[in-house]
Amino acid sequence: MKKQFKAESKRLLDLMINSIYTHKEIFLRELISNASDALDKRYYLALSEKKETLTRDDLFIRIETDGDKRLLRISDNGIGMDDKALEDNLGIIAKSGSLAFASEHKSEDGSELIGQFGVGFYSAFMVAKSVKVISLAVGSNQAYQWLSSGQDGYTITKVDKAEPGTIIELELKDDGEDEDYSQYLRQYTLENLIGKYSDYIRWPIKMMVTTHGEDDAEVLEDKTLNSMVPIWKRVKSEISEQEYNDFYKEKFFDFNDPLKVIHTSVEGNVSFEALLFIPSKVPYGYYTKEYERGLQLYSHNVFIMDKAKELIGEHFRFVRGLVDSQDLSLNISREMLQQDRQLKLIASRLEKKIKSELLDLLKKERETYEKFWANFGVQLKYGIYADYGSHKELLEDLLLFYSSEKKGLITLQEYVDNMKEEQKEIYYASGSSVEKIDKLPQVELVRDKGFDILYLSDEVDEFALSMLGTFQEKKFKSILQGDLDFLSEEEKEAQKKTAEKNKDLLEALSTELKDQVKEVRLSSHLKSHAVCLVAGEGVSLEMEKVLSMMPENANVKAERYLEINSEHPLFAALSKQYKKKPEQIGKLARLLYDQALLIAGFPLEDPIAFADQVSQLMVDNLS
Ligand code: ADP
Repeated sequence: MKKQFKAESKRLLDLMINSIYTHKEIFLRELISNASDALDKRYYLALSEKKETLTRDDLFIRIETDGDKRLLRISDNGIGMDDKALEDNLGIIAKSGSLAFASEHKSEDGSELIGQFGVGFYSAFMVAKSVKVISLAVGSNQAYQWLSSGQDGYTITKVDKAEPGTIIELELKDDGEDEDYSQYLRQYTLENLIGKYSDYIRWPIKMMVTTHGEDDAEVLEDKTLNSMVPIWKRVKSEISEQEYNDFYKEKFFDFNDPLKVIHTSVEGNVSFEALLFIPSKVPYGYYTKEYERGLQLYSHNVFIMDKAKELIGEHFRFVRGLVDSQDLSLNISREMLQQDRQLKLIASRLEKKIKSELLDLLKKERETYEKFWANFGVQLKYGIYADYGSHKELLEDLLLFYSSEKKGLITLQEYVDNMKEEQKEIYYASGSSVEKIDKLPQVELVRDKGFDILYLSDEVDEFALSMLGTFQEKKFKSILQGDLDFLSEEEKEAQKKTAEKNKDLLEALSTELKDQVKEVRLSSHLKSHAVCLVAGEGVSLEMEKVLSMMPENANVKAERYLEINSEHPLFAALSKQYKKKPEQIGKLARLLYDQALLIAGFPLEDPIAFADQVSQLMVDNLS
């Protein structure tokens, strides 16, 4: 009975069958890579569950051709598939995000998708009229055949096969004017392709080849076509950037080259090789709960597991790659990973290594680092805040913030190095964007005095800084909170006098706004603007905005002060008006507060009343 492909599979299949992609040859890489995974799985099971006795030499991949029938066979004696697995794995394609990816990166012929992203098994249909899969699963005694010539569905039937494993048999398409499918029947092409794409596969890829012996006689020889040395075991200086990039893209399903490759080999208490990559773009789904961090784990050259999260902290979760160590037990299970001492050692070495590589990038390739920062900076800032600040020391040197002086990103060290002699604290201001912060009334005075201000516009920023507390023993100080000790002794004295003279006015304003603010007071933050809202020490206004979005923190409020600039003409006018018509103070207080709210980016409680008030003032003034 013919079964139909699922809709998404059909679309992907369609892309493959009609592909005009020029590198169709990659189908071989894909099929060999599947075969290699199947061998990994079988070998790993044999070692860990001991149901079979196997040695590495028992397992291999074989390539065969039948020129007359135009058949190319790729077989392996790996884990195999039963009827259900054939159905699930080959009838549906929704795994590894292939399709989500495909629909996001549409191109006419799907070439981007095919070229950059491991699309797997279906790529066989770029070169084959029909594909037959014969498979016997380990531990099963019934083999099955899956057969399809593409779009019109597939059949699954019982067949005979003695040994576990899988045979993929392609019936190649007929050659066309510019398409030479027959090349995949030629020994020369196959040897080349395997050398090009599959050399590092850690299982032998065998083929019967004809060579020329002495006196030029043809000799038939069973030859292993790949060198089997995985890239991470090779000498660094002999690996090209291209090789690293290709390896990364194929192995980690990215279609961009990595931003940074970290290849390291460590000997000592624990020995291991690690090949790590920092992506150049934010991976698909990265900032969602579904994204799983972790590195691939190999031991003694055997693949153990994907995404071992114990190898990498949450703060570096963007790092992808693998670790291969002889010092780990092959039987290690996910549960055991957490306690494994060796693994902890490896993880801590890797953490140091990643940090030092990032610092290096920061020092030597600032632009690249800023690209990295744009993608993953938020992650590092969360890292500072998370786990009660236990990664502060690790991460603080990697942080960048926008500087009002430089009008670009700087490190905390750079800030401290440029501090003025009399400056004791690191100034910052938070808001929803750099542009908005730059316009805040409070910023003016500090900038005017020649101090640099860090502009914080990510939600996590203030939480991270409050977790840091200090940097190089310098405290962080929000210029939007508490007192700013900027006035000279004389200015302070003058302000004190003004406050005393206007005691009644300030008290009246405070009383009117007693439900909104702790106090209305003369400002230490303002230069040319009339009013602003200032928070007390502790929770800031921006933090309040973030916290109010979480139900459990909805009641956390910043302590609010309304500050008035005693130098501003508005203050003198208020003072005059209060003497003449004290009954109007309620409305005026409200108007002042609403202005301050707007400046601070808060919604008004009663925007209509505000607008009516402003209109009235305009009428009074214009008539
Ligand atoms: P991917 O390899 O990305 O999962 P594929 O479409 O290449 O996607 O393969 C789908 C699935 O089919 C594989 O995950 C694997 O479970 C199974 N499969 C493919 N080829 C083989 C094989 N030679 N032996 C065993 N299982 C295989």
